[in-house]
Amino acid sequence: MTDLKGQYQSIKAEIDGAVSRVLQHTQFILGQEVKTFEGEMAAYCGTKHAAGVASGTDALHLALLACGVGPGDEVITTPFTFIATSEAIVNCGARPVFVDIDPDTFNIDPTKMATRISPKCKAIIPVHLYGLPADIEPILSIARRHHLKVIEDCAQALGAEYKGKKVGSLCDAGCLSFFPAKNLGCYGDGGMVVTNDPKISETVEMLRKHGGKIAYYHSLPGFNSRLDALQAAILSAKLKHLDTWNDMRRRNTALYDSLLGKIQGIQVTRAPANFKSSCNYYTVRLLNPRVKRDDLRKHLDGKGIQNMVYYPLSLHLQEVYKDLGYKAGDFPESERAHAQVLSLPMYPELTEDQVREVAAAVETYVKGLG
Ligand SMILES: *Cc1c(COP(=O)(O)O)cnc(C)c1O
Repeated sequence: MTDLKGQYQSIKAEIDGAVSRVLQHTQFILGQEVKTFEGEMAAYCGTKHAAGVASGTDALHLALLACGVGPGDEVITTPFTFIATSEAIVNCGARPVFVDIDPDTFNIDPTKMATRISPKCKAIIPVHLYGLPADIEPILSIARRHHLKVIEDCAQALGAEYKGKKVGSLCDAGCLSFFPAKNLGCYGDGGMVVTNDPKISETVEMLRKHGGKIAYYHSLPGFNSRLDALQAAILSAKLKHLDTWNDMRRRNTALYDSLLGKIQGIQVTRAPANFKSSCNYYTVRLLNPRVKRDDLRKHLDGKGIQNMVYYPLSLHLQEVYKDLGYKAGDFPESERAHAQVLSLPMYPELTEDQVREVAAAVETYVKGLG
C-alpha cells in the first residue's frame, strides 16, 4: 500500500544527515529539534501553536483533555474511522456518541448531528477520512450554538485544504499523526496538536511531560507522551517534500478515478468543490452486487497487488463498545460503507504504469463476471 523503502532511498542523504545530527548533539528528549519542527508545522498548517506528542492517538487524547473533556461527558464523532478517534474519547472517561456519515464523502454528516447533542456533550471530533476534509462550516455553526469544542482528526489529511485553508487550522485544535503510512510519516510513532488557542497548546505541553511546566513540579495529572527529537529531525527533513508528495498522490488519484470511474459498478469518490484531499488512501465503493469484495481481493492478491479494507466494521458494532448499546442498523450509511469499500495502493512513488496495471486488474475481474 506504500513504498517506504523507495521513499527513504530518494531522500537518504537528508535523513541520514538529520539522524546523525541528533546522535551527535544527544538532545534526545524535546529540545531544539522538536521546537524547530513544531514551528515549521504551525507555519505549514497556518496555526499559532503546535505541540509534538508521542502519537496521533495521544494527540487526540491530550487535545480532548486540554478542552476540558472528562468523565461523564459526551463527544460526537463518526462511526466510520480508525478506532483511535473513539479510543481517545473513552480514555478521557467520556462517551463517544456516533453520528452517521454522508455516503458521498465517507465523512460525518452534519445534517444528522443536531438531534444527537445532549446537555452532556462537550465536543465534536470530525475526521477527514482518507484525506478528504469533512464539511467543517456547518459543524462549526452547530458547535457555536451549543458551546462545543471542535477537534479535527487530521491523521489522514495533512496538507488537505477546506475552502482554501489547511485542515488543522479550521477549529479549536487539529490532531496529526506521523505514523509511517500517513502523508508525513516518521520512522516510528509520532503525533502533534496544532491550534490557535494558547491555552490548549500550553496544556498539551504540560500533559505530555507529566503535567508540569518546570521539572519536578506538577500541576496536572499528566503522561509521558513526547515526540522524539530523532523523529522531529527526520520529519523536518521530510516536510520539505510533503507538498510534492501530496501532489503526486493527487495525480495518481486523478488517474485512478479516470480509469476506474468508467467501470460498471465501481464508484469513485468525487471531492466536493473547494475540498482538496491529501489523498492518503485511495478507496472505491463496490456497488455491483455481483462483485464480491473477497473474490476481487483474492484476484488482486494473485497479481501481487496489495489492497485493504479501511474499515471492515463500523465502530458502533465493535465488541469493545457493546456496552454503549448500539446495534446493527443504527448507522446504515456507515454499515453500507464498511461492506462496500476497497482501498488500492496509494503513495507518491506509485508510477503511472502501476496505476494502470492496478486499474486493469480490477477491470479484468469485473468484465470476467460477464
Ligand atoms: C492513524 C490514525 C489515528 C492515530 O494515529 P497514531 O499515530 O497511529 O496513533 C487517528 N485517527 C485516524 C483517523 C487515523 O487514521
